[in-house]
Amino acid sequence: MIAAITASKRGHKVTLFEKEQSLGGQLKYAILPPGKKPLESFLIYLRKQVEKAGIIVKVGKTIKKNDIKKANPDVLILATGPRIKEIKIPGIEQVKELLYMPEVLLEKVKAGKHTLIVGGNAIACEVGEFLSSKGKKVIIVGEEEDLAVEMDLLNRAMLMQKLNEYGVNIVRKSKIQSLKDKSAIIEDSNGNITQVEFDSIIFITGYASDNNLYMEIKEYVKDIYIIGDAFKPGGIRQAVHRGYQTGLNI
Ligand SMILES: Cc1cc2nc3c(=O)[nH]c(=O)nc-3n(C[C@H](O)[C@H](O)[C@H](O)COP(=O)(O)OP(=O)(O)OC[C@H]3O[C@@H](n4cnc5c(N)ncnc54)[C@H](O)[C@@H]3O)c2cc1C
Repeated sequence: MIAAITASKRGHKVTLFEKEQSLGGQLKYAILPPGKKPLESFLIYLRKQVEKAGIIVKVGKTIKKNDIKKANPDVLILATGPRIKEIKIPGIEQVKELLYMPEVLLEKVKAGKHTLIVGGNAIACEVGEFLSSKGKKVIIVGEEEDLAVEMDLLNRAMLMQKLNEYGVNIVRKSKIQSLKDKSAIIEDSNGNITQVEFDSIIFITGYASDNNLYMEIKEYVKDIYIIGDAFKPGGIRQAVHRGYQTGLNI
């Protein structure tokens, strides 16, 4: 949205495509964990600026190679977000209560009383806080020595305190070795094995850049940019900065 707004303000005719039914990408979910509500004003601001700039918005449209070839734009900016890293764990196909993080935050699906969150990043911890604040018994299993290391120190300290207060069980330096319906075998860095039972499990094991569409289309569009998490998973600040720079450069 920032790239579109900036380019539009500079006189370009911009069309914004979004495969979901509303604009916002991950920001729509980022505002849902406890304490994240203030971020919503940024989402509202972006949507308002898109509207004010007179950008043509087409939601519910997944852009594919042929759409781009047909539209033949002078400039193409891909801000299509990251790819979820593939999870290869023996037995994962037997797990029925494997929940998708955005649906959990939107409360489209109900997490079970005992929820296992796999992943030690900031999003995993925030989802842990979200669920434990609603009375769920949460276990977070992360491979790292410390959790949420990408967060700034103050917010991280507050989040860790909340997890502690809610009694979230944090298992560090460990990974899921195998799964079987509602139980997980966890191995720590010393090779010790424990078994954990759960009602639901959520994998939040990180994102990778996603340049698939870029590679497919780059020979057909002269001026093409890939920005935000699609270029490199970072955060809102990085995505905004690169979006703004791109809008200025074209
Ligand atoms: C729960 C959660 C909490 C977070 N908290 C923070 C935080 O506190 N601070 C922070 O800095 N970052 C946070 N983030 C990360 C941050 O939201 C992302 O880094 C940022 O939104 C990346 O922006 P983006 O525009 O690159 O990609 P995205 O926000 O992923 O947007 C990409 C959009 O492209 C659409 N799309 C993809 N492919 C197509 C296609 N072919 N056609 C049409 N549309 C398509 C997608 O539907 C999506 O709407 C959080 C993320 C989550 C999930």
